[in-house]
Amino acid sequence: MSIAPPLGLLAELTHRCPLACPYCSNPLDLERRSGELDTATWIRVFEEAAALGVLQLHLSGGEPAARADLVELTRGAARAGLYTNLITSGIGLDGARLEALAGAGLDHVQLSVQHVRAEEADLIAGFAGAHARKRGVARELVELGLPLTINAVIHRANIAAVDELVREAVDLGARRIEVAHSQYYGWALKNRAALLPSAAQVAETRATVERLSAELLGAIVIDYVAPDYFARFPKPCMNGWGRRSMNVTPSGRVLPCHAAETIPGLTFWSVRERPLAAIWRESPAFNAFRGSEWMREPCRSCPRKEIDFGGCRCQAFAITGDPRNADPACAYAPAHGSMDAAVAAAQASAGAFAYRRYTRSGERVPAAAAES
Ligand code: SF4
Ligand code: SF4
Repeated sequence: MSIAPPLGLLAELTHRCPLACPYCSNPLDLERRSGELDTATWIRVFEEAAALGVLQLHLSGGEPAARADLVELTRGAARAGLYTNLITSGIGLDGARLEALAGAGLDHVQLSVQHVRAEEADLIAGFAGAHARKRGVARELVELGLPLTINAVIHRANIAAVDELVREAVDLGARRIEVAHSQYYGWALKNRAALLPSAAQVAETRATVERLSAELLGAIVIDYVAPDYFARFPKPCMNGWGRRSMNVTPSGRVLPCHAAETIPGLTFWSVRERPLAAIWRESPAFNAFRGSEWMREPCRSCPRKEIDFGGCRCQAFAITGDPRNADPACAYAPAHGSMDAAVAAAQASAGAFAYRRYTRSGERVPAAAAES
């Protein structure tokens, strides 16, 4: 099988983050600061990515601004010829740092927002004052001329505010807003019962987005990411496993998708030991679900298998226990009923969030300890 080069690379620079969003899709066990790749290794990875054919680099986390070398990393990526997109909560960025990032060649920023009202936003983020600081960062970004996208992860605690969130994004000067329903991986799966909206709320949100897309045409672009739990067919997750993009974890393991480490039995190679090009082409984890040979029925003989690639392997594993099964978001999947059952159970739940906690040194407490 010929393997085309990847177009995008998501660099998870760190798992450290001052926020504690209940919908965070980062793993339950976060990587420690002491295990993170150093500046020179990241820049070598960016140069290898550009040589391999990657066009877009997403600097992400955790909170990428928690890295003291963020400006240097951005400069290294821009020098390598990559389009650089910073995915941030805004916490840890001030005017001087934003100016330095712009000077280093940063091309675009995606800024997360939790709600339009400070009290609710800070409650969701688990961080007092986050709302006000994010708005300040948005205004400074726009003043610097950096293109801004607002990322709004939608769930039960903010779904009624979608109209206001979009209008506020226009007011902040964003060119685009991503209205994306929460995905249930990592920490988010622990909070699924508190986050899942009802079918009626999802239908209303879809109608709101359609109405606003027409009304605000030319003022802002709205990207709507539909929720898997209310879908008829799954999304083409990652545009197909090992087809378009790769993730590098804070310590250098290279993953076909953000949540791939939740699937047991896969072997992930590291940029510490191998060149990125060899990992992309030969890594057992990337080759595990390339093509369609691994598929089971109903995907194997389905005419949509080159459209959605059987959906998400991580969700198939999380819900059915086998990553080779059809994504349960699919109406043809034998496990599809379990998605409806989860929605029904969620509506009956009280909806309290579980937050990650920090130790005094600033590292997150591992999941098991945080629960006790
Ligand atoms: S989702 Fe929230 S807690 Fe998780 S990395 Fe992003 S900002 Fe931090
Ligand atoms: S059966 Fe498999 S390939 Fe067909 S639509 Fe469902 S998930 Fe996609």
